[in-house]
Amino acid sequence: MDSLVSYAIAGAVLLFFVRGYLKGLKKKEARWQAAAEKGKLFSGGPRAQHPHIDVTYCIGCQSCTTVCPEGDVLGMVGGKAAIINGYKCVGHSLCAEVCPVGAITMVMATPSMGAEMPFLTPEYETNVRNLFIVGELGGLALIKNAVNQGRDCIDTIAGRLTSEHARREIPGVCDVLIVGAGPAGISASLRAIENKLNYVTIEQDQVGGTVAKFPRQKLVMTTPVEFPMYGKFKKMELSKESLLAFWQKVMQRADFQVRSGEKVEDIQRGPDGLFSIVTSKAQYRSRAVVLALGKTGTPRKLGVPGEDLPKVMYRLIEADHYVYKKILIVGGGDSAVEAAMGLANQVGNLVTLSYRQDSFARIKARNLERIEKCMRSGKVKVIFNSKPIEFRQDAVILDVKGERHEITNDFVWIFAGGSPPNDFLKKIGVQLGTRDLTLEAHHEAQEATAGKKELASIS
Ligand SMILES: Cc1cc2nc3c(=O)[nH]c(=O)nc-3n(C[C@H](O)[C@H](O)[C@H](O)COP(=O)(O)OP(=O)(O)OC[C@H]3O[C@@H](n4cnc5c(N)ncnc54)[C@H](O)[C@@H]3O)c2cc1C
Ligand code: SF4
Repeated sequence: MDSLVSYAIAGAVLLFFVRGYLKGLKKKEARWQAAAEKGKLFSGGPRAQHPHIDVTYCIGCQSCTTVCPEGDVLGMVGGKAAIINGYKCVGHSLCAEVCPVGAITMVMATPSMGAEMPFLTPEYETNVRNLFIVGELGGLALIKNAVNQGRDCIDTIAGRLTSEHARREIPGVCDVLIVGAGPAGISASLRAIENKLNYVTIEQDQVGGTVAKFPRQKLVMTTPVEFPMYGKFKKMELSKESLLAFWQKVMQRADFQVRSGEKVEDIQRGPDGLFSIVTSKAQYRSRAVVLALGKTGTPRKLGVPGEDLPKVMYRLIEADHYVYKKILIVGGGDSAVEAAMGLANQVGNLVTLSYRQDSFARIKARNLERIEKCMRSGKVKVIFNSKPIEFRQDAVILDVKGERHEITNDFVWIFAGGSPPNDFLKKIGVQLGTRDLTLEAHHEAQEATAGKKELASIS
């Protein structure tokens, strides 16, 4: 009798846990499905290296879905891992690392090929001699890759300057001109200081590049890296603010000078092998040029008073960070419409979209259907035939068919097009071509894992 009671109790306890587990699983599946729906609003997909899941090997253990620091990039669909929010993936590769059956490989934008990548030698040199490309523009994302490439490329330039006896001073000509002050440009500039090169660094926006634009307090994942003018930087994860503060400290100590608020507009190599560089403010001459432009390109500005307020932005990185806000989106293309719908889906947001035309004429059919639904339900208020004429701290003034309208506002996103870096590269004579970066992406992922293991065994 006693044993019967014990069996019954054990059975009830087991049932309790199994029910709890199944309930949890159901909840998770609903969350993944909701995330996948949200992900569909951002049609961009993965930007650089990202996981490729071989479903024939995937055993549905869910290790990969929990490890990603960027949140719901991966989810379980029909019991197998799948990419549900590809646009959020930045290529950390932790999912590939934890997969117990090796079902995940890191690959480039489409499963195996980088779209239009600049042709680069292993020294990061383009088809134009002494013109180099480092960082994300070269195809591989991640801060660690940007830092390594920026540093190594300057070593190549320094080596050439000594071996080619080219180091005699030419008045008005610098040794190297670095374009961009994201992680790749900062690393290149600091290495130039370390190598005592005569350098100029030009940044169109703010020092820190994409990292400076990460959402507040974003957790940044890095791997151990040799940082110029500092040595081994061993932190694996830290807030965006702490990483920027660290860079700032090293830059100050090295007396790093950057010309910010200046955009490089043209670069030409003369018959004497020297480069002439034209910026929005000046002209320079240099023996070598390092392009560390990132992949984002240069957004077109409207030239409206107040556009330089920090609340005015040109790229939406994470919609979920904005809730209970009054938001204005400017533009009528797919990016504008997708951002408006993404932000309207966050709790408590009031989203207005201002477009200068009288209808959406050039967006994808799927987006048109969705935005019309949002307009009907009042989720997004669209004001056609309108344009912003002034941005203020807590308001925006719109010109609607010649009349002034003031609306209260916390944030503005402008999607008015811009120049992608590839157009700039073509203009200055850099050859592009489809480059298969699968092996490089996978190699980077394996190296990162090895670096972490090495660090773990030391500490
Ligand atoms: C949301 C998000 C999260 C991420 N999280 C991580 C993470 O946790 N860990 C990680 O390792 N990586 C992460 N990444 C990727 C990482 O931010 C990038 O790979 C890295 O910033 C690339 O560095 P970069 O120097 O090549 O380019 P960028 O950081 O993009 O810098 C390029 C700079 O060049 C300037 N520039 C461009 N054109 C011109 C011009 N014509 N004249 C003058 N200046 C110009 C730009 O203004 C910019 O400042 C993330 C990316 C995103 C979008
Ligand atoms: S590669 Fe990184 S960012 Fe992308 S899904 Fe895997 S863990 Fe997440």
